[in-house]
Amino acid sequence: MLRLKPMDTEVECPFCGEPGEVEVDIDEDSPGEHEFIQDCAVCCRPWAVRIVVSPDGEVTVSVDRS
Ligand SMILES: [Zn+2]
Repeated sequence: MLRLKPMDTEVECPFCGEPGEVEVDIDEDSPGEHEFIQDCAVCCRPWAVRIVVSPDGEVTVSVDRS
C-alpha cells in the first residue's frame, strides 16, 4: 500500500534569499532521491529541488540554483 505524506517544507530561495515553501509528496517507503524544478514564489526563478528519503524514512529537502 502506497503511503504518501504531504509535506510543506520551508526553504530559503537560493536566488533572492526569501523564505519559501516546497510542496512535496513523499513516499517514505521508497528511499531514494527525487529531483524536480519549482519556481520561486517571490522572484519566479527556478529552484532545483532535491528530496532525499533515507532507508529509515528520514526526509531531507534542499534547493539549489538550477
Ligand atoms: Zn526567489
